[in-house]
Amino acid sequence: MSSKLHKIPHFNSYDDIRAEMQNDLQYRLANRTDKTFLGRPLYYRINVQLILTQECPYNCPFCLERKNPMQGENDFKAQIEALKMVLSEHPNARFSITGGEPGLYPSHVSEIIDTYRKHSNNVFCSINTTGYSKELNGLAHINLSYNDYVHKSPIDFPNCTVQTVVENPTIEYIKEFMQMEADNFSFRFLSGLEKKDYSVDIWNDLQNDDDIDIHTFRIGDFFVYATFDYMGKHARLTLGDMWQQRNNDYKDGYSNIIIHPDGTIGTNWR
Ligand code: SF4
Repeated sequence: MSSKLHKIPHFNSYDDIRAEMQNDLQYRLANRTDKTFLGRPLYYRINVQLILTQECPYNCPFCLERKNPMQGENDFKAQIEALKMVLSEHPNARFSITGGEPGLYPSHVSEIIDTYRKHSNNVFCSINTTGYSKELNGLAHINLSYNDYVHKSPIDFPNCTVQTVVENPTIEYIKEFMQMEADNFSFRFLSGLEKKDYSVDIWNDLQNDDDIDIHTFRIGDFFVYATFDYMGKHARLTLGDMWQQRNNDYKDGYSNIIIHPDGTIGTNWR
């Protein structure tokens, strides 16, 4: 299932999804042969994430960044040099800036985005933020994190995507959440480092719900997502299985790139 589908197939258990993740990885390892200084990119349009800082003024109890801190102190110059190096090999990269809270350093965010625009084909750029600083408006697409502990109004970030993390998303939860005054939503399963059998009910329920219109569905080497419309609004549900990502045998392949706060370049979330 290494291509996008326009409907969600029925799943009996999470093992069905795990098996497809393995199929996807094996397909990519067999077919993606081009090399960069990091190894073999397994996707043509690779995702690059910059962890701009680990600092954050909030304290969400489920925070993965705090539980598994990324390495290094902020080194903004090194981040820019690392980004240039990565983009020289991946001009079609999709780029996201995350943290911690990038809104603590809006002028550096702006400089980083200028670098991305100048050194790439400018495919897509986004900022993950709690909405800490309105100065981020207009720099790139805003993914506004929203939960019981951080909940700035989406009205202050026009055209943003409201994103939230859910332990076990249900169709009722998604529909209720999408009543919020915003047009774009992103729901993510809470995923930790332990191996876990995630419920597959939500995928089957999304497909079978008359009010939901599925656009795309895809299983990759460690992730599964669907995009859909509900009440004229757009949403995406993603499960990024961190255990799977850490335990896949990537050989010399990589499926994403991460730039750490100190400018170190890693792959496959390492
Ligand atoms: S806002 Fe994000 S980075 Fe900050 S504590 Fe919450 S989950 Fe962690």
